[in-house]
Amino acid sequence: MSPALLGAIEAGGTKFICAVGTPDGEILQQIRIATGTPAETIEQVLAFFRFQKESLAAIGIASFGPVQLNRNSPDYGFITSTPKLDWRNFDLLGAVRKGLRLPVAFDTDVNAAALAERHWGAARGLGSFMYVTVGTGIGGAAMIDGAILHGLSHPEMGHIRVPHDLIRDPFPGVCPYHGDCLEGLACGPAIEARWQASPDTLPPNHPAWPLEAEYLALACVNWICTLFPERVVFGGGVMRPDLFPALRAKVCDLLNGYLDVPQLTQDLDCYLMPSALGANAGVLGALVLASREAGPG
Ligand code: ZN
Repeated sequence: MSPALLGAIEAGGTKFICAVGTPDGEILQQIRIATGTPAETIEQVLAFFRFQKESLAAIGIASFGPVQLNRNSPDYGFITSTPKLDWRNFDLLGAVRKGLRLPVAFDTDVNAAALAERHWGAARGLGSFMYVTVGTGIGGAAMIDGAILHGLSHPEMGHIRVPHDLIRDPFPGVCPYHGDCLEGLACGPAIEARWQASPDTLPPNHPAWPLEAEYLALACVNWICTLFPERVVFGGGVMRPDLFPALRAKVCDLLNGYLDVPQLTQDLDCYLMPSALGANAGVLGALVLASREAGPG
């Protein structure tokens, strides 16, 4: 009989979550490992899976990035230009494959979270949608006609440009590459640097929030006009519930009735939606990746 369980690794810059679960998304066991050097982190990851590898059909890795996703590239499965220098050019996929000798699937944490939302969350059953996460960075994934969009490697939707009124908001942005790209203006660390306070501590009536809604709406309208997805799902620590009404209102203003479909003109509450899986989206997405790698069982 083929093994019935799957392994999932959500590889993050501060922590790795390793889990064993079922193809239905039930997590049976989970551990959290603080991200150290690649050698010490991977050793703990392998130790968690090694003693139960006979019960696993495959493993999925949902990794922080940037990563190389082009299967024809010699560095497929590597973490590439991360500011975490220890991890730069590290062969994460190869280390897990070699250490466990199991089929291993690999994608970004954002793409994996999108897959999880498609299977069990806010995008269930949709063929084309976007998933955007706003937290320590901003990342976006797109499913187009049932497949996650990869392109040359993976989209970098957080690094698009949005109009930046320097008189109203003189903050220069925190992106080390672009300064005031979307991520530079609107990720959690940008809010914290602009207002000298953690986003968690800013009250709902703080001027940080209308500005945040505006930057996200400007980006969202660009994404909607480019891909015209069936829905945009937002996750990540910055996306508090009271941000959504302002975001929807601003998107509606900016589109100005141009895209005349009921989803946008009458049902924006269901079009711009919060993630249903929250902080579990990444590890559940790794489970979906593993399930696809294992094939029909
Ligand atoms: Zn940038």
